[in-house]
Amino acid sequence: MILIGLGANIPSEKGGPEVTLEAALAVLNLRRDIEVVQRSRWYRTSAVGLTDQPDFVNGIAEISTRLGPLELLSVLLDLEAEFGRERRERWGPRVLDLDIVDFDGLVADLDRDGLTLHLPHPRAAERGFVLQPLLDIAPDWRHPTSGEKGSDLLKKLDPTQKVDVL
Ligand code: ADP
Ligand code: MG
Repeated sequence: MILIGLGANIPSEKGGPEVTLEAALAVLNLRRDIEVVQRSRWYRTSAVGLTDQPDFVNGIAEISTRLGPLELLSVLLDLEAEFGRERRERWGPRVLDLDIVDFDGLVADLDRDGLTLHLPHPRAAERGFVLQPLLDIAPDWRHPTSGEKGSDLLKKLDPTQKVDVL
């Protein structure tokens, strides 16, 4: 399964985070070689890492594609830029964040043409805003590195981390 994590917490020119994310999924599905197969509900989540910023809206989509992982990353980064993402402050506010959470179970650190890709996404196992929506569409998902079930990983997380269905 190829799983994309989507997030936003400041408005884009399309509108607020939910509108932006819906638009991003629609555009992604229109990209040649990418099909959105399933998507989760949207969740309102508290910011993690840099906590003094607006709540996020997050979700997960399953796609199918014949692109390789770095080609897919490049499409996602282009899409972020098209939606007006500018600042590259780590964990800072963003109009659109598109991460590859899992690429068919691949475990790899890839580096080519100035692009870096860690698979699975290094912080997926610790993030309620990834695991909760992921379980909407892939209840039997297991973490590619540890083999742990997503539902078990979620149980281990801090229950005060807010992840509420919109
Ligand atoms: P984050 O999503 O961790 O807050 P950014 O969205 O600013 O960080 O991403 C910065 C870089 O992270 C991207 O340019 C990309 O090269 C790299 N990256 C590494 N692994 C992944 C992954 N699995 N999915 C998306 N980006 C990744
Ligand atoms: Mg990202």
